[in-house]
Amino acid sequence: MRKSIFYMMVSVLFFAACQPKEVKKSLNDLAIAYVRLGLEIGAYDPVFVDAYYGPDSLKFRGQVADTFPHEALRARVSELKANLDAIASESTSPEEAVMRANWISSQLTAFDRRIRIVAEDYGTFDEEAEDLFGVKIPSYDSAHFIALIDDLDKTLPGEGSLQEREKALTARFAIPKERMDTVFQVAIEAARKITQERFDLPPEETFTLEYVQDKTWSGYNWYQGGYKSLIQINTDHPILVDRVIDLACHEGYPGHHVYNMMLEKNLYVDKGWVEISLYPLFSPQSLIAEGSANFGIDMAFPGEKFDEFAKEVLIPLAGLDTAGSGAYFKYITIKEKLNYARNEAARGIVNGSMSQEEINHWLEDYALITTSVPFIKKYRTYVVNYNYGKDLVKDYIESQSETTDDRWVPLGQLLSNPVIPKDMLPKKE
Ligand SMILES: [Zn+2]
Repeated sequence: MRKSIFYMMVSVLFFAACQPKEVKKSLNDLAIAYVRLGLEIGAYDPVFVDAYYGPDSLKFRGQVADTFPHEALRARVSELKANLDAIASESTSPEEAVMRANWISSQLTAFDRRIRIVAEDYGTFDEEAEDLFGVKIPSYDSAHFIALIDDLDKTLPGEGSLQEREKALTARFAIPKERMDTVFQVAIEAARKITQERFDLPPEETFTLEYVQDKTWSGYNWYQGGYKSLIQINTDHPILVDRVIDLACHEGYPGHHVYNMMLEKNLYVDKGWVEISLYPLFSPQSLIAEGSANFGIDMAFPGEKFDEFAKEVLIPLAGLDTAGSGAYFKYITIKEKLNYARNEAARGIVNGSMSQEEINHWLEDYALITTSVPFIKKYRTYVVNYNYGKDLVKDYIESQSETTDDRWVPLGQLLSNPVIPKDMLPKKE
Protein backbone atom coordinates (compact mmCIF):
# COMPACT_ATOMS: atom_id res chain seq x y z
CA MET A 1 0.00 0.00 0.00
CA ARG A 2 2.69 2.41 1.12
CA LYS A 3 4.74 1.58 -1.90
CA SER A 4 1.91 2.26 -4.29
CA ILE A 5 1.17 5.61 -2.62
CA PHE A 6 4.84 6.47 -2.95
CA TYR A 7 4.81 5.60 -6.63
CA MET A 8 1.60 7.52 -7.13
CA MET A 9 3.17 10.58 -5.52
CA VAL A 10 6.28 10.23 -7.63
CA SER A 11 4.22 9.94 -10.78
CA VAL A 12 2.05 12.92 -9.80
CA LEU A 13 5.18 14.97 -9.14
CA PHE A 14 6.68 13.79 -12.40
CA PHE A 15 3.47 14.67 -14.23
CA ALA A 16 3.45 18.10 -12.61
CA ALA A 17 7.06 18.65 -13.61
CA CYS A 18 6.27 17.82 -17.24
CA GLN A 19 3.17 20.02 -17.21
CA PRO A 20 4.33 23.19 -15.53
CA LYS A 21 1.14 25.07 -16.26
CA GLU A 22 -2.15 23.95 -14.76
CA VAL A 23 -3.82 25.35 -17.87
CA LYS A 24 -2.21 22.73 -20.11
CA LYS A 25 -3.46 19.84 -18.02
CA SER A 26 -7.02 21.07 -18.00
CA LEU A 27 -6.90 21.86 -21.70
CA ASN A 28 -5.95 18.27 -22.44
CA ASP A 29 -8.85 17.11 -20.26
CA LEU A 30 -11.20 19.38 -22.19
CA ALA A 31 -9.81 18.09 -25.48
CA ILE A 32 -10.54 14.54 -24.32
CA ALA A 33 -14.07 15.55 -23.29
CA TYR A 34 -14.54 17.12 -26.75
CA VAL A 35 -13.51 13.89 -28.50
CA ARG A 36 -15.73 11.77 -26.25
CA LEU A 37 -18.67 14.09 -26.89
CA GLY A 38 -18.14 14.02 -30.67
CA LEU A 39 -17.98 10.23 -30.69
CA GLU A 40 -21.15 10.04 -28.59
CA ILE A 41 -23.02 12.33 -31.00
CA GLY A 42 -21.75 10.02 -33.74
CA ALA A 43 -23.49 7.10 -32.03
CA TYR A 44 -26.78 8.83 -32.90
CA ASP A 45 -25.89 10.69 -36.10
CA PRO A 46 -24.32 8.24 -38.58
CA VAL A 47 -22.68 10.92 -40.74
CA PHE A 48 -21.27 13.02 -37.89
CA VAL A 49 -17.87 11.37 -37.48
CA ASP A 50 -15.96 11.47 -40.73
CA ALA A 51 -12.74 10.06 -39.26
CA TYR A 52 -11.42 9.01 -35.89
CA TYR A 53 -8.02 7.49 -35.24
CA GLY A 54 -7.46 8.36 -31.59
CA PRO A 55 -7.39 6.04 -28.56
CA ASP A 56 -10.01 3.26 -28.41
CA SER A 57 -10.61 4.22 -24.77
CA LEU A 58 -12.41 7.41 -25.88
CA LYS A 59 -14.93 5.59 -28.06
CA PHE A 60 -18.55 5.66 -26.92
CA ARG A 61 -19.30 2.42 -25.10
CA GLY A 62 -22.53 3.47 -23.42
CA GLN A 63 -26.07 2.52 -24.18
CA VAL A 64 -27.60 4.37 -27.14
CA ALA A 65 -30.84 5.86 -25.80
CA ASP A 66 -34.13 5.32 -27.65
CA THR A 67 -34.64 9.04 -27.97
CA PHE A 68 -31.84 11.37 -29.00
CA PRO A 69 -30.68 13.05 -25.73
CA HIS A 70 -30.25 16.43 -27.42
CA GLU A 71 -30.74 18.56 -24.32
CA ALA A 72 -28.13 16.68 -22.29
CA LEU A 73 -25.68 16.76 -25.19
CA ARG A 74 -26.21 20.49 -25.73
CA ALA A 75 -25.64 21.11 -22.01
CA ARG A 76 -22.30 19.31 -22.27
CA VAL A 77 -21.35 21.38 -25.33
CA SER A 78 -22.17 24.56 -23.49
CA GLU A 79 -20.17 23.62 -20.37
CA LEU A 80 -17.14 22.58 -22.41
CA LYS A 81 -17.28 25.77 -24.43
CA ALA A 82 -17.42 27.91 -21.27
CA ASN A 83 -14.30 26.17 -19.93
CA LEU A 84 -12.44 26.54 -23.21
CA ASP A 85 -13.43 30.18 -23.63
CA ALA A 86 -12.12 30.83 -20.10
CA ILE A 87 -8.73 29.39 -21.09
CA ALA A 88 -8.70 31.38 -24.33
CA SER A 89 -9.42 34.66 -22.54
CA GLU A 90 -7.00 34.07 -19.64
CA SER A 91 -4.06 36.44 -20.09
CA THR A 92 -1.57 33.93 -18.66
CA SER A 93 -2.55 31.13 -21.07
CA PRO A 94 0.25 30.19 -23.43
CA GLU A 95 -0.36 31.17 -27.06
CA GLU A 96 -0.63 27.56 -28.13
CA ALA A 97 -3.28 26.85 -25.48
CA VAL A 98 -5.32 29.85 -26.66
CA MET A 99 -5.13 28.61 -30.23
CA ARG A 100 -6.26 25.09 -29.29
CA ALA A 101 -9.04 26.34 -27.00
CA ASN A 102 -10.39 28.71 -29.66
CA TRP A 103 -10.30 26.01 -32.30
CA ILE A 104 -12.11 23.41 -30.18
CA SER A 105 -14.64 26.05 -29.13
CA SER A 106 -15.44 26.93 -32.75
CA GLN A 107 -15.87 23.23 -33.51
CA LEU A 108 -18.28 23.01 -30.57
CA THR A 109 -20.49 25.78 -32.00
CA ALA A 110 -20.96 23.39 -34.92
CA PHE A 111 -21.66 20.45 -32.57
CA ASP A 112 -24.46 22.45 -30.97
CA ARG A 113 -26.02 23.32 -34.31
CA ARG A 114 -25.74 19.77 -35.62
CA ILE A 115 -27.36 18.37 -32.45
CA ARG A 116 -30.28 20.74 -33.06
CA ILE A 117 -30.56 19.58 -36.69
CA VAL A 118 -30.56 15.90 -35.67
CA ALA A 119 -33.27 16.79 -33.11
CA GLU A 120 -35.21 18.37 -36.02
CA ASP A 121 -34.88 21.83 -34.49
CA TYR A 122 -33.91 23.52 -37.74
CA GLY A 123 -32.51 27.00 -38.36
CA THR A 124 -32.37 29.05 -41.53
CA PHE A 125 -29.82 28.24 -44.20
CA ASP A 126 -27.66 31.20 -43.13
CA GLU A 127 -27.84 30.34 -39.43
CA GLU A 128 -27.01 26.70 -40.00
CA ALA A 129 -24.15 27.40 -42.42
CA GLU A 130 -22.57 30.01 -40.16
CA ASP A 131 -22.73 27.86 -37.02
CA LEU A 132 -21.58 24.70 -38.76
CA PHE A 133 -18.80 26.11 -40.92
CA GLY A 134 -17.86 29.31 -39.14
CA VAL A 135 -18.42 31.96 -41.83
CA LYS A 136 -21.21 33.91 -43.51
CA ILE A 137 -22.02 32.56 -46.96
CA PRO A 138 -22.55 34.97 -49.87
CA SER A 139 -25.78 34.74 -51.82
CA TYR A 140 -26.17 35.37 -55.57
CA ASP A 141 -29.33 36.26 -57.43
CA SER A 142 -30.47 34.79 -60.72
CA ALA A 143 -28.94 37.68 -62.75
CA HIS A 144 -25.48 36.50 -61.64
CA PHE A 145 -26.10 33.04 -63.05
CA ILE A 146 -27.89 34.22 -66.18
CA ALA A 147 -24.75 36.20 -67.14
CA LEU A 148 -22.62 33.06 -66.69
CA ILE A 149 -25.10 30.97 -68.66
CA ASP A 150 -24.89 33.56 -71.50
CA ASP A 151 -21.11 33.05 -71.56
CA LEU A 152 -21.60 29.32 -71.64
CA ASP A 153 -24.10 29.62 -74.46
CA LYS A 154 -21.40 31.27 -76.56
CA THR A 155 -18.84 28.62 -75.58
CA LEU A 156 -20.78 25.45 -76.32
CA PRO A 157 -20.43 24.40 -79.95
CA GLY A 158 -23.07 22.84 -82.20
CA GLU A 159 -26.84 23.11 -82.59
CA GLY A 160 -29.75 22.77 -80.19
CA SER A 161 -30.55 23.91 -76.66
CA LEU A 162 -27.79 24.67 -74.17
CA GLN A 163 -28.44 21.39 -72.37
CA GLU A 164 -28.33 19.42 -75.62
CA ARG A 165 -25.05 21.00 -76.65
CA GLU A 166 -23.62 20.44 -73.17
CA LYS A 167 -24.60 16.79 -73.36
CA ALA A 168 -23.04 16.38 -76.81
CA LEU A 169 -19.77 18.01 -75.73
CA THR A 170 -19.37 16.17 -72.44
CA ALA A 171 -20.25 12.79 -74.00
CA ARG A 172 -17.01 13.06 -75.96
CA PHE A 173 -14.98 13.21 -72.75
CA ALA A 174 -16.63 10.46 -70.70
CA ILE A 175 -14.17 7.75 -69.70
CA PRO A 176 -15.13 4.28 -70.96
CA LYS A 177 -15.68 1.93 -67.99
CA GLU A 178 -12.92 -0.48 -68.98
CA ARG A 179 -10.32 2.35 -68.99
CA MET A 180 -11.48 3.95 -65.77
CA ASP A 181 -9.07 2.34 -63.33
CA THR A 182 -6.02 2.91 -65.56
CA VAL A 183 -6.91 6.58 -66.02
CA PHE A 184 -7.54 7.07 -62.27
CA GLN A 185 -4.29 5.37 -61.27
CA VAL A 186 -2.27 7.57 -63.65
CA ALA A 187 -4.01 10.76 -62.50
CA ILE A 188 -3.53 9.98 -58.82
CA GLU A 189 0.11 9.05 -59.33
CA ALA A 190 0.75 12.34 -61.16
CA ALA A 191 -0.95 14.34 -58.39
CA ARG A 192 0.99 12.39 -55.76
CA LYS A 193 4.32 13.06 -57.47
CA ILE A 194 3.66 16.80 -57.70
CA THR A 195 2.62 16.94 -54.02
CA GLN A 196 5.57 14.82 -52.86
CA GLU A 197 7.97 17.31 -54.41
CA ARG A 198 6.52 20.00 -52.12
CA PHE A 199 5.55 18.27 -48.89
CA ASP A 200 7.35 15.74 -46.70
CA LEU A 201 4.76 13.00 -46.75
CA PRO A 202 5.19 10.08 -44.32
CA PRO A 203 7.01 7.30 -46.23
CA GLU A 204 4.40 4.71 -45.25
CA GLU A 205 1.46 6.77 -46.57
CA THR A 206 -0.87 4.83 -48.82
CA PHE A 207 -4.46 4.61 -50.06
CA THR A 208 -6.87 2.03 -51.40
CA LEU A 209 -9.03 2.89 -54.37
CA GLU A 210 -12.51 1.40 -54.70
CA TYR A 211 -15.30 1.83 -57.23
CA VAL A 212 -18.77 1.95 -55.69
CA GLN A 213 -22.38 2.57 -56.73
CA ASP A 214 -25.58 3.95 -55.35
CA LYS A 215 -24.17 6.92 -53.41
CA THR A 216 -25.27 10.54 -53.12
CA TRP A 217 -21.66 11.77 -53.66
CA SER A 218 -19.22 11.33 -56.56
CA GLY A 219 -16.13 10.54 -54.50
CA TYR A 220 -15.27 10.10 -50.81
CA ASN A 221 -12.10 9.86 -48.79
CA TRP A 222 -12.48 7.73 -45.67
CA TYR A 223 -9.37 8.53 -43.67
CA GLN A 224 -8.33 5.52 -41.60
CA GLY A 225 -5.48 7.02 -39.55
CA GLY A 226 -1.88 5.84 -39.70
CA TYR A 227 -1.50 7.77 -43.01
CA LYS A 228 -3.94 5.52 -44.86
CA SER A 229 -7.08 6.42 -46.80
CA LEU A 230 -9.84 4.50 -48.47
CA ILE A 231 -10.83 6.48 -51.56
CA GLN A 232 -14.17 5.55 -53.09
CA ILE A 233 -15.28 6.65 -56.55
CA ASN A 234 -18.97 6.49 -57.41
CA THR A 235 -19.53 5.09 -60.90
CA ASP A 236 -23.32 5.61 -60.97
CA HIS A 237 -22.88 8.31 -63.60
CA PRO A 238 -20.36 8.67 -66.43
CA ILE A 239 -17.06 10.14 -65.23
CA LEU A 240 -15.59 12.86 -67.41
CA VAL A 241 -11.87 13.43 -67.87
CA ASP A 242 -11.80 16.62 -65.79
CA ARG A 243 -13.52 14.84 -62.90
CA VAL A 244 -10.71 12.30 -62.83
CA ILE A 245 -8.18 15.08 -62.21
CA ASP A 246 -10.56 16.70 -59.72
CA LEU A 247 -11.05 13.51 -57.76
CA ALA A 248 -7.36 12.53 -57.84
CA CYS A 249 -6.41 15.89 -56.31
CA HIS A 250 -9.50 16.43 -54.15
CA GLU A 251 -9.69 13.01 -52.50
CA GLY A 252 -5.96 12.31 -52.70
CA TYR A 253 -3.10 14.72 -53.36
CA PRO A 254 -2.91 17.44 -52.08
CA GLY A 255 -6.55 17.10 -50.95
CA HIS A 256 -8.21 15.12 -48.18
CA HIS A 257 -5.65 12.32 -47.88
CA VAL A 258 -2.80 14.82 -47.49
CA TYR A 259 -4.73 17.19 -45.17
CA ASN A 260 -5.64 14.35 -42.81
CA MET A 261 -2.07 13.04 -42.83
CA MET A 262 -0.52 16.44 -42.16
CA LEU A 263 -2.86 17.03 -39.22
CA GLU A 264 -2.24 13.55 -37.84
CA LYS A 265 1.55 13.78 -38.19
CA ASN A 266 2.13 17.38 -37.08
CA LEU A 267 -0.49 17.78 -34.38
CA TYR A 268 -1.64 14.38 -33.13
CA VAL A 269 1.58 12.34 -33.35
CA ASP A 270 4.20 15.06 -32.80
CA LYS A 271 2.30 17.20 -30.28
CA GLY A 272 -0.23 14.78 -28.81
CA TRP A 273 -3.25 16.99 -29.47
CA VAL A 274 -6.01 14.44 -29.09
CA GLU A 275 -8.75 16.72 -30.46
CA ILE A 276 -7.21 16.37 -33.94
CA SER A 277 -7.86 12.62 -34.03
CA LEU A 278 -11.59 13.29 -34.47
CA TYR A 279 -12.77 14.84 -37.70
CA PRO A 280 -16.44 15.83 -37.31
CA LEU A 281 -18.00 16.25 -40.75
CA PHE A 282 -20.27 19.13 -39.77
CA SER A 283 -17.68 21.57 -38.48
CA PRO A 284 -15.55 24.53 -39.61
CA GLN A 285 -12.85 21.99 -40.33
CA SER A 286 -14.90 20.85 -43.33
CA LEU A 287 -14.84 24.30 -44.93
CA ILE A 288 -11.05 24.09 -44.91
CA ALA A 289 -11.05 20.39 -45.89
CA GLU A 290 -13.32 20.79 -48.91
CA GLY A 291 -11.94 24.20 -49.78
CA SER A 292 -8.33 23.05 -49.76
CA ALA A 293 -9.23 19.81 -51.56
CA ASN A 294 -10.88 21.78 -54.37
CA PHE A 295 -8.14 24.40 -54.44
CA GLY A 296 -5.70 21.48 -54.42
CA ILE A 297 -6.71 20.83 -58.04
CA ASP A 298 -5.42 24.30 -59.01
CA MET A 299 -2.34 23.75 -56.87
CA ALA A 300 -1.33 20.50 -58.56
CA PHE A 301 -2.44 21.55 -62.05
CA PRO A 302 -2.43 25.37 -62.24
CA GLY A 303 -3.98 27.05 -65.32
CA GLU A 304 -2.77 25.54 -68.58
CA LYS A 305 -1.19 22.58 -66.77
CA PHE A 306 -4.66 21.15 -66.15
CA ASP A 307 -5.59 21.34 -69.85
CA GLU A 308 -2.20 19.97 -70.92
CA PHE A 309 -2.35 17.00 -68.59
CA ALA A 310 -5.87 16.15 -69.71
CA LYS A 311 -5.06 16.59 -73.39
CA GLU A 312 -1.64 15.00 -73.53
CA VAL A 313 -2.06 12.20 -71.02
CA LEU A 314 -5.56 11.33 -69.83
CA ILE A 315 -7.71 11.82 -72.95
CA PRO A 316 -5.46 9.59 -75.12
CA LEU A 317 -5.16 7.09 -72.26
CA ALA A 318 -8.94 6.86 -72.11
CA GLY A 319 -8.97 6.16 -75.85
CA LEU A 320 -10.80 9.44 -76.56
CA ASP A 321 -10.24 12.12 -79.19
CA THR A 322 -8.84 15.51 -78.09
CA ALA A 323 -10.89 17.38 -80.73
CA GLY A 324 -13.18 19.90 -79.01
CA SER A 325 -11.14 19.92 -75.82
CA GLY A 326 -10.65 23.72 -76.02
CA ALA A 327 -14.41 24.32 -75.69
CA TYR A 328 -14.60 21.60 -73.05
CA PHE A 329 -11.98 23.31 -70.82
CA LYS A 330 -13.81 26.65 -71.12
CA TYR A 331 -17.06 24.88 -70.26
CA ILE A 332 -15.48 23.42 -67.10
CA THR A 333 -14.29 26.85 -65.94
CA ILE A 334 -17.73 28.41 -66.31
CA LYS A 335 -19.48 25.40 -64.80
CA GLU A 336 -17.36 25.71 -61.67
CA LYS A 337 -18.63 29.26 -61.13
CA LEU A 338 -22.19 28.02 -61.65
CA ASN A 339 -21.74 25.66 -58.69
CA TYR A 340 -22.83 28.52 -56.39
CA ALA A 341 -26.35 28.05 -57.79
CA ARG A 342 -26.48 24.77 -55.87
CA ASN A 343 -26.12 26.80 -52.65
CA GLU A 344 -29.20 28.76 -53.66
CA ALA A 345 -31.15 25.55 -54.31
CA ALA A 346 -29.97 24.28 -50.91
CA ARG A 347 -31.07 27.59 -49.38
CA GLY A 348 -34.52 27.00 -50.90
CA ILE A 349 -34.65 23.44 -49.59
CA VAL A 350 -33.40 24.23 -46.06
CA ASN A 351 -35.58 27.34 -45.70
CA GLY A 352 -38.56 25.61 -47.30
CA SER A 353 -38.84 28.71 -49.49
CA MET A 354 -38.79 27.08 -52.95
CA SER A 355 -41.20 24.79 -54.73
CA GLN A 356 -39.82 21.60 -56.27
CA GLU A 357 -40.09 23.32 -59.63
CA GLU A 358 -37.96 26.26 -58.46
CA ILE A 359 -35.39 23.92 -56.92
CA ASN A 360 -35.11 22.04 -60.21
CA HIS A 361 -34.81 25.33 -62.09
CA TRP A 362 -31.86 26.47 -59.97
CA LEU A 363 -30.14 23.11 -60.20
CA GLU A 364 -30.81 22.24 -63.83
CA ASP A 365 -30.83 25.63 -65.55
CA TYR A 366 -28.14 27.40 -63.50
CA ALA A 367 -25.93 24.82 -61.75
CA LEU A 368 -26.41 22.40 -64.69
CA ILE A 369 -26.76 19.42 -62.37
CA THR A 370 -29.67 17.05 -62.08
CA THR A 371 -28.61 14.69 -59.33
CA SER A 372 -28.11 16.88 -56.29
CA VAL A 373 -31.41 16.85 -54.39
CA PRO A 374 -30.70 13.66 -52.35
CA PHE A 375 -27.25 15.05 -51.43
CA ILE A 376 -28.69 18.39 -50.32
CA LYS A 377 -31.47 16.72 -48.33
CA LYS A 378 -28.92 14.62 -46.48
CA TYR A 379 -26.11 17.15 -46.01
CA ARG A 380 -28.10 20.45 -46.11
CA THR A 381 -25.74 23.48 -45.99
CA TYR A 382 -22.64 21.31 -46.49
CA VAL A 383 -22.66 22.27 -50.20
CA VAL A 384 -21.15 25.69 -49.39
CA ASN A 385 -17.86 24.05 -48.46
CA TYR A 386 -17.11 23.14 -52.07
CA ASN A 387 -17.47 26.57 -53.66
CA TYR A 388 -17.20 29.17 -50.91
CA GLY A 389 -14.63 27.01 -49.10
CA LYS A 390 -12.51 26.86 -52.24
CA ASP A 391 -12.71 30.62 -52.82
CA LEU A 392 -11.85 31.32 -49.19
CA VAL A 393 -8.80 29.03 -49.32
CA LYS A 394 -7.75 30.36 -52.74
CA ASP A 395 -7.93 34.03 -51.66
CA TYR A 396 -6.15 33.27 -48.40
CA ILE A 397 -3.29 31.32 -50.03
CA GLU A 398 -2.90 33.86 -52.84
CA SER A 399 -2.79 36.74 -50.35
CA GLN A 400 0.25 35.05 -48.80
CA SER A 401 2.18 34.25 -51.96
CA GLU A 402 3.59 36.13 -54.92
CA THR A 403 3.80 33.38 -57.53
CA THR A 404 2.01 30.10 -58.24
CA ASP A 405 5.09 28.33 -57.00
CA ASP A 406 5.13 30.16 -53.64
CA ARG A 407 1.65 28.93 -52.80
CA TRP A 408 2.79 25.57 -51.48
CA VAL A 409 4.28 27.12 -48.32
CA PRO A 410 1.06 28.73 -46.99
CA LEU A 411 -0.91 25.68 -48.18
CA GLY A 412 1.38 23.42 -46.14
CA GLN A 413 0.87 25.63 -43.08
CA LEU A 414 -2.90 25.69 -43.54
CA LEU A 415 -2.98 21.90 -43.77
CA SER A 416 -0.82 21.43 -40.67
CA ASN A 417 -2.49 23.76 -38.16
CA PRO A 418 -5.80 24.18 -36.35
CA VAL A 419 -7.08 27.12 -38.41
CA ILE A 420 -10.47 28.77 -37.89
CA PRO A 421 -12.09 29.84 -41.20
CA LYS A 422 -13.01 33.34 -40.05
CA ASP A 423 -9.34 34.00 -39.32
CA MET A 424 -8.65 33.47 -43.03
CA LEU A 425 -10.86 36.35 -44.08
CA PRO A 426 -9.07 39.54 -45.14
CA LYS A 427 -8.40 41.74 -42.11
CA LYS A 428 -10.58 44.82 -42.00
CA GLU A 429 -8.59 48.07 -42.24
ZN1 LIG B 1 -14.36 16.32 -50.32
